[in-house]
Amino acid sequence: MARMGTADQQGSRTTASSKATPADARPRNRILLLQALQADGPQSRADLARQSGLTPTTVSAVTAELIADGLINEVGRKASTSAGKPATLLGVEPDGRHIIALDLSDDDVIEAAVVNLAGKIVERRSHARHGETGKKAAAAVVKLARDIARTVERPLLGVGCATPGIVDDHGVVVTAAHAGWNDEPLAAKLTDALHVPSYVANDANAAVLAEYASAGTTTDNLLLVRVGAGVGAGLVIGGELFVGDHFAAGEIGHVVVDDEGALCKCGRRGCLEAVVSAPLLAQRLDAVADAERSAHLELAGRHLGIALATLVGALNLSEIVLSGRMDLLDDRFRSAVLETIRNRTFPTVGQHVTARFSSLGDDGVLLGAAALVLRNELGIV
Ligand SMILES: [Zn+2]
Repeated sequence: MARMGTADQQGSRTTASSKATPADARPRNRILLLQALQADGPQSRADLARQSGLTPTTVSAVTAELIADGLINEVGRKASTSAGKPATLLGVEPDGRHIIALDLSDDDVIEAAVVNLAGKIVERRSHARHGETGKKAAAAVVKLARDIARTVERPLLGVGCATPGIVDDHGVVVTAAHAGWNDEPLAAKLTDALHVPSYVANDANAAVLAEYASAGTTTDNLLLVRVGAGVGAGLVIGGELFVGDHFAAGEIGHVVVDDEGALCKCGRRGCLEAVVSAPLLAQRLDAVADAERSAHLELAGRHLGIALATLVGALNLSEIVLSGRMDLLDDRFRSAVLETIRNRTFPTVGQHVTARFSSLGDDGVLLGAAALVLRNELGIV
């Protein structure tokens, strides 16, 4: 399975020796304990030892190191059921590190935020795009990252950036039509400017990671669809982001769903993007009377369902998240997507499929950009 870039790839870190030594176990043990505390909340050292399988001595040493680094803290005492001193609870320190997150998914504006380890946005900035492309567009992204970095009062863990287009595992934007990028080394430029590990990924791929980490998700396999300027999907399979052989997994926008459909900018007729994308849907909904809106939303939902059914059937997915322009999409759209998938898949697969809207609202991509850093640097998404 192809996976997203690791810290060694995008973050310009040196790789450890291939020979296993006790020193090699330390980063893994740190990740194990951070994961346990992030997923299940505050725990005692004894609980952590039981859950992780590490010895109490190792847990003591690693938690001491994490406390010294400011990543975790003593947050209280466990309610005691027996005599003796109640155990101290440890928890992730939400503001132990801050992350800069960048969302380039909107054609008109770049969104930036400072996000803490708990996924809370503590500062926001935005920059109106003026149709910049190529190197100018990249320079605008770097400048916004620098500007918001000046507001960061905690140690900076890294920069995460989510953009439409295809991005390789070194954070090079292979192609992104909205910014006129071809082989743009965006992660390297951000790392050079801010001197911290930087990660760049496709916007739907980033968003699915944030959704996967959120409380609403109950499975290790997740499909997220973004209806924005284009239509794209992000896939988590077995708990890992799936990007495909050429980093283009989830590029469903030009799957033909209607042979008689509207002409697409790619030259064919009836691509998903030509019948469901947000600008086209908005245009169509504006042009019709209220009574006809239902029919249009249902048709759009059916077209998306057609494009997703094969994917859902082939991979036996059961959880689908819809995101993007929430002001346009409603329950009629969601129901049409779900019904179409159920009607077009094997009942054993289809009967378990659910479709819901993102729990993260408009911040899904920004939080996804932050999740790239959390996952690669701390292993906690
Ligand atoms: Zn097309």
